[in-house]
Amino acid sequence: MAKFRFLDDYYLMALDGTEYFSSHEVHCPGCLEKHHRNGKVTYHHQMLGAVIICPGRKEVIPLMPEPILRQDGETKNDCERNALKRFLPKFRQDHPHLRVIATLDALYANAPVIRDLRTSLIPWIIRVKSDGHAFLFKQVEQRAEQGLTEEFEGVGSDQVFRRYRLARNVPLNESNRDVRVDFLDVWEPTGRDSWRRFTFILDPLLGLCREHAERWMWGGRGRWKIENETFNTLKNQGYQFEHNFGHGHQNLSVVLAMLMMLAFLVDQTQQLCCPQFAAAWKKCISKRALWERVREIFHQFEVTSMQAIYEAVLSTRKPPLKVLWDL
Ligand SMILES: [Zn+2]
Repeated sequence: MAKFRFLDDYYLMALDGTEYFSSHEVHCPGCLEKHHRNGKVTYHHQMLGAVIICPGRKEVIPLMPEPILRQDGETKNDCERNALKRFLPKFRQDHPHLRVIATLDALYANAPVIRDLRTSLIPWIIRVKSDGHAFLFKQVEQRAEQGLTEEFEGVGSDQVFRRYRLARNVPLNESNRDVRVDFLDVWEPTGRDSWRRFTFILDPLLGLCREHAERWMWGGRGRWKIENETFNTLKNQGYQFEHNFGHGHQNLSVVLAMLMMLAFLVDQTQQLCCPQFAAAWKKCISKRALWERVREIFHQFEVTSMQAIYEAVLSTRKPPLKVLWDL
């Protein structure tokens, strides 16, 4: 885990929701429902995923996800924010001493989420956008005009030039002036006169400063890892996360999704710590091809460990088919 340290002794925990089952017919009382104008209904299942990430590292460490399910007795759909509210105390129960900073997208940049994170003693970096947080951006603009923001430029660890603006202790919005946030605005050139803007709010407890501004930016942008390195891997690299294995009569769909996350945890741990896995993956080029090879060996031979399977993948020797018949 030491490889994953983000800053001081903090780890970075990315959270986001994803869909893994969808059908027009098969459904259960826990399914989320989307009612269309033509009278059709789409039933679907989602989950809130949580993974430990580290900017610059490809691997992620998945934590126990929280299903986004219609709760017992509820008539309304469940949502990501409610799932987060349920996730946080469970996470704290499982990991009472793990120092994490939550990194979240703009959907979560609101006072109830920040209050929930505070209750669970989890500091946060959350993306914000000017159209969704007009009051906040206006406050920062006014402070900038009065010279009350800190502005500087710098070349990052990736050799990219960026402009920074920091503002501290700004009210999140008009109706929640008691919720104060630190504001990190980063401008990155994309062409001669065009810029890409990344804006985040940070927990004031984190002590936003010039020295660590770039690190915080990477932490906020690292949230994409849950999208790219987790959900996309599960959906496109041979895990079949989205392919409706089955919904079952009761909770099978949720159980299958949980098992897949567990398998992903095992694979990520191997990717992180097992040189044979890394070598076998390299030899097979894609993960999909590696899984295929592992399956073949597992079906054809009696094997005593995963290590034996990876050694067989790496072996260049091909035993003649006759050997199999003699066995
Ligand atoms: Zn269902």
